[in-house]
Formats: sequence, C-alpha cells, structure tokens
Amino acid sequence: MAVAENLNPIIQLENERIVQSYKRAPFVLSHGHGITLYDTDGKAYQDWVAGIAVNALGYSDAGFIKAIQAAALGLIHTSNLYYTAPQAELAAAICAKSFADRVFFTNSGTEAVEGALKFARKVAYDNGDSDRKEIVCFTDAFHGRTLGALSITPKDKYQKPFHPLMPGVIVAEYNDLESARAVISEKTAAVILEPVQGEGGIYPATPEFLQGLRQLTEQHGALLIFDQIQCGMGRTGTLWSSEPSGVTPDIQTIAKALGNGLPIGAILVTETVASHIHPGDHGSTFAGNPFTTGVAKYVFDTISQPEFLSSVCETGAYLKERLEEINSPLIKEVRGRGLMVGLELTIETPALIEAGYQHGLMLVNAGMNVIRFVPPLIAQKSDVDSMIDKLTTILSNAGSVH
Ligand SMILES: *Cc1c(COP(=O)(O)O)cnc(C)c1O
Repeated sequence: MAVAENLNPIIQLENERIVQSYKRAPFVLSHGHGITLYDTDGKAYQDWVAGIAVNALGYSDAGFIKAIQAAALGLIHTSNLYYTAPQAELAAAICAKSFADRVFFTNSGTEAVEGALKFARKVAYDNGDSDRKEIVCFTDAFHGRTLGALSITPKDKYQKPFHPLMPGVIVAEYNDLESARAVISEKTAAVILEPVQGEGGIYPATPEFLQGLRQLTEQHGALLIFDQIQCGMGRTGTLWSSEPSGVTPDIQTIAKALGNGLPIGAILVTETVASHIHPGDHGSTFAGNPFTTGVAKYVFDTISQPEFLSSVCETGAYLKERLEEINSPLIKEVRGRGLMVGLELTIETPALIEAGYQHGLMLVNAGMNVIRFVPPLIAQKSDVDSMIDKLTTILSNAGSVH
C-alpha cells in the first residue's frame, strides 16, 4: 500500500498493535527541553498541553532528573506490607501544606477518585447510616474513566456503552447552589466537584458556590470531596485552587502534576475520615512505592515554593490579558486562573489544534469549543508572547475560511 509505505514506522506499528482508543497527533515525540518538545524529525513544538496538565516542571528539569537518579539508587518497590521513608515523608509534606491530616497514595487520578468514593461509603457504613449512599456530582464534571469515577462523569459519550453504572448518583447544576440544595439530603454520602472544572471546559466554581456546598454538606452530615487532580498542585497560581474561597473539604483527590509525569495520585483526608479506614478497607500493590513518592517529594516541594507559585500567577495573569487582547470574531470568552485558562470559540477546535502543529504549537481542547491552556508551570511571559503570535495567525487564517 502506497499510504503505508509513507507512514512513519512507529505510527504504523502503533496503528497495528495498540488498542485504538486514542486519536494521536501525526508525529512521534522524542525529547524535550523547558517547555519545548521535539519530534523524531527534529521539529520543535512549544507545549501548551504539558501532557494534559501533568508536566509542571517541563522537560529535562535538572532537579527532577537528579531526584529520579537518587530515587533509582534506592528501593523502587516494596509493596505496602513494609515501611519505607519516602512515602511517609511525602505524606508529611502534603499535610503540612494542606487541610489534610493523612494521605492515601494511588497510581492515578481515577484511582484516587475511586478511593475517595469508597472512603465516603465507609464513613456512612461505620456510622450505621445505611440510607446514606448517594453521591452528588455536577454537570460538565470529569472524574475519570473507571466505573465508579465514570458514574460521576455525566457525559453520555463516555458513559453510554458502559451501563449499568454505579447507582445512587445525582447530578446537580455546577455553580447553581439552589440545584445542589434541592438534592443534598440525609441520604447524601458525599458531594464531589472540581473547584475549577478541567475537561468539561475550564469552568471555575464561584467562591459562594464552594462556601454554600460546605455549609449544605455540614448541615446534612455529608462529606465534601474536592477533585483537584487537574486544578490543584499550583495549576491556578495557588497550591490548591480552592484557596481563594477559604473552603476546605473532607477529602481531596490529587494526581496529574504530583509526579511531573510519574504515575502517582493521592487521597487527602481529615483525621475524622481517616479514623474510619482500617486494614483491608482499601489497598494497592504499586501505590506509594518509594521510587515514585521519593521523586514526587521533589516535585511537591518545588511547586509549593511561594516564588514558584507567584511566577505561575504572574505568567497566568499575563496569558489571560494577552488572550483577551486578541481581536477575533471567533473568540467568545476567556476564563480560568493561573496557568489553567480556557478560550471559548464560536467554532470547534480540532482544525485549530491541527493548524497549531504546523506552526510548532501544541494545544489541547476541553470540550468541543474550548482551547485549554495548561502549559508547564515554568512558562514565562516570553513564552506567552510567542504562543500568542502563533495563535493570532492561526485564528485569522481560520476566520478567513469560516
Ligand atoms: C485527569 C483527571 C482525572 C483522572 O485522572 P487519571 O490520572 O487520568 O486517571 C480525574 N479528575 C480530574 C479532575 C481530572 O482532570
């Protein structure tokens, strides 16, 4: 076949041997430096995706590489049958800088969500609250792809082929406190939300909404779960995206940037929640292994530095300002905070993302009409300037054909 002959052999191999559940960009990446990635033809791409809000420190970060080398000389994995130092030390570092008293480690975001749901069920069970089974989630939420997390991700495209889902899920309207009030009751085990929605289109919760949910959950004896897998870890310019609201949850899930690319997530809990979790209630073979937690400690310590966070605020504010200045009839709205910003367009994003590749720019969508800017958190104003130049060209080219 003439077509196959021209295809990059790696792309051909993946087409033959990988389950085709992803639509990939038409090049093969080989290495990166700072916020720039390179493909196997040597072409450079300025990266505004960061492996979907994961690679906070960008590529080839010297400290990150050193942390990996140091961790690699120690134990990689022991299982959770044994004590090792890095897991306990990372947990202590996270607790020192959050509402949490204790941490349970996982290997991914969706696993952290699954664990959070189980913890909420266990608290109700221990309290003899046999009617308290319901989980309240919100429109446009994304909590993951495993069956529990999928059940609270109310999107037909993701859910439909996989019924029956977990029962007892109620969907309320995001940022609409009255809609939440109508469904939170003595039957609610937990209310779960992203303080800034990611996949759903970059929608920040208002402080009043978070405060209202805190009050409603307390009033009805339900737990409040923040899913900060995407919006946490400095992404919005504060370590936790809920900080401006002053609200703290009972349980919080984190993942994405925590390992800067190594697979790790965590469930942060209060002492009260933790007091209901005992040996046998939950577990994981790999999770919290000394290698991954050792490296994640370096990532967490780096991101949680005040200077690091204020740089995210500064670059993020500049990004928003520059996006708002673009004069294009295709732009509907700019929203978000820090380096988690959405550009809502009047058209669908795939053609623009494709055009981005031609201009050496990596972009990702969040929903069909929103371009989501989630670069490495080390991005600087000069990076914003060069991205805006490219984006302006791409939008004006798209504007002329639409
Ligand atoms: C990415 C994401 C998840 C799922 O995390 P995985 O590591 O892909 O399993 C869950 N919740 C939110 C808010 C996310 O952005």
